Amino acid sequence: MPKIYYKSVEEIELIRESSLLLSKTLGEIAKVIAPGVQTKALDQLAETFIKDHGGVPAFLNYSGFPYSLCISVNDQIVHGFPSEYVMQEGDLVSVDCGVILNNYYSDSAYTFPIGEIDESRKKLLQVTKECLNLGIQKAVAGMRVGDIGFAVQEHAEKNGFGVVKELVGHGVGVQLHEKPEVPNYGKRGSGIKLEEGMVLAIEPMINMGKAGVKFWDDGWTVSTIDAKPSAHYEHTVAVKKGKADVLSTFDYIEEVLRQKN
Ligand code: MG
Ligand code: MG
Repeated sequence: MPKIYYKSVEEIELIRESSLLLSKTLGEIAKVIAPGVQTKALDQLAETFIKDHGGVPAFLNYSGFPYSLCISVNDQIVHGFPSEYVMQEGDLVSVDCGVILNNYYSDSAYTFPIGEIDESRKKLLQVTKECLNLGIQKAVAGMRVGDIGFAVQEHAEKNGFGVVKELVGHGVGVQLHEKPEVPNYGKRGSGIKLEEGMVLAIEPMINMGKAGVKFWDDGWTVSTIDAKPSAHYEHTVAVKKGKADVLSTFDYIEEVLRQKN
């Protein structure tokens, strides 16, 4: 889609339904993710749960991607393959999921702490989630795409973390990846003006160390250049006047994580 596609109110409600199924899918992942579990078990669970609820896994076969989830462990940033890797206490595991429901796409990601994690990793998760929320606060009609990027970048760098620049957020809803691109860096007041009808996947990817990335020979996996860990949180968000409308939710995940602790 070469141009920005502005959604009707009815279409945004359909994207909300898709996002809700996606959010519930990540809630199911939260129930089983733990030390000793293989990451491919999460992929199988997600595929089954999405299909059982009338949806289609949006990532499966997208440009040839072979799984329903992207699962990126520790220094992997995004687009990792589910595998026979057995998750270990102390890992950070980013789970990125896309759903198609009634032809409408949603996209959301959450970085899970596996068992007890150290303080530096806790801080990375907290700051990355704060970056997402600060970005979402700018997804308001009249602001610009650069305002989102500026908010994310400023908060990450203030905390000494590296902002991934090679991969960006995007419009979403009628396709998985639409215009505009939503970088996690930028200048205040720059870029395309945000208007009602725009639905954005806002997705800070924040590295504990250097900002640089490596692209793997598998054609998909992206990892940090310095092998330090990375975190990734993502919501599907409708631009509104006054306040952004966040269509996906971490409530299902966080309810499960609270009960585990
Ligand atoms: Mg995603
Ligand atoms: Mg995305």
